[in-house]
Amino acid sequence: MIKTVPRQHIHENFKLMAENAPVMIWIADTEKNRYYFNKAWLDFRGKTLEEECGDGWLAGIHPEDLRRSVHIFEEAFSKRIAYKKEFRLLRKDGTYRWILTHGAPILNDTRFEGYIGSCMDINYRVEQEQQKDEFMAIASHELKTPLTSIRIYTELLYQNLFHDQNMETAQMVLKIGNQVDRLTWLIKEMLDVTRISTGSLKMTYEYFDFSALAEEVAEEMQSTVESHRIQACIQPHVQVWGDKDRLRQVLVNLVSNAIKYSPEAKQVDIGAWTDADGVTVSVHDRGIGIPDTLKSKIFDRFFRATTQDNNFPGIGLGLYICSEITRHHKGRIWFESKPGDTTFFLFIPIRSVGGPVKRY
Ligand code: ADP
Repeated sequence: MIKTVPRQHIHENFKLMAENAPVMIWIADTEKNRYYFNKAWLDFRGKTLEEECGDGWLAGIHPEDLRRSVHIFEEAFSKRIAYKKEFRLLRKDGTYRWILTHGAPILNDTRFEGYIGSCMDINYRVEQEQQKDEFMAIASHELKTPLTSIRIYTELLYQNLFHDQNMETAQMVLKIGNQVDRLTWLIKEMLDVTRISTGSLKMTYEYFDFSALAEEVAEEMQSTVESHRIQACIQPHVQVWGDKDRLRQVLVNLVSNAIKYSPEAKQVDIGAWTDADGVTVSVHDRGIGIPDTLKSKIFDRFFRATTQDNNFPGIGLGLYICSEITRHHKGRIWFESKPGDTTFFLFIPIRSVGGPVKRY
């Protein structure tokens, strides 16, 4: 027979656990005032409970993180939902440490009784990531210059060989050129990812014809691809407010993927249509498809659904970058997929990021 433990005991045991836990724990009342901090928190801050209670602890948040931090908490609080955030907190030795906090509403049956949260010191991880980002930014930047000159000389060499009718060697040089292009694209992706993580991926907005861009991409890619026919069905032209080069990058990525992941197929279809809100572009292929179990991860950084033995080149950054560019435009990117039938969709609102009002 299961013996029930009095509620009071459970509370006392939880309190004992909180006091001895290595993570920092806090509790706030229904007015957002924090009234409890465990020993780990007070040790970290070098403060007394009285000093930290109410709003006292806010003095420990890094000034640059304060507004965002309070905003995340207040938004979660107003909706009574769990939240997660990272911020810098002042330690007793005078240094700021990156902290990851998870907060959750305390619901007694359905009665709301405040919030409880736990915090972990993630400074080491954040520093490692910053160092990695810095390294990637420097490495990819340094690689760009020599690659550009290799590309130029490869082109000149190809033209000379072509002129001399040395076609066999010209074909080899053409292959070198293609590999240099691939390397350049990979480096561009790495640079973009570092820009995303440092928040410096800048957009240059203008009004432009999005449908015409889709047509252009279809034509340009057709001129470099022999394995597939790129069939474009683009409906009435419409202007959107967006970064043309970045949206071109998204479309090129979607079409390249459609080609790459349908090696047995002969055709890729690009469609575009407009409604009152914006333009949707679709890119359809008849390739290997994406397994149901992996669908939720497809836009994650470095995620690849394909196994190494499939031997498809790539590093799993393209769709992550596409989703970030789309987010900047307040658009949407999604897909439907089964073997032999995959379609990626990109929706861009007509006035995506508050551009000037334009009359058509
Ligand atoms: P990469 O192609 O460089 O691996 P992406 O970020 O563009 O990176 O794509 C992530 C993963 O999504 C790919 O590795 C692949 O497994 C899957 N994927 C993307 N597009 C398609 C597609 N059209 N058909 C099947 N799988 C796809």
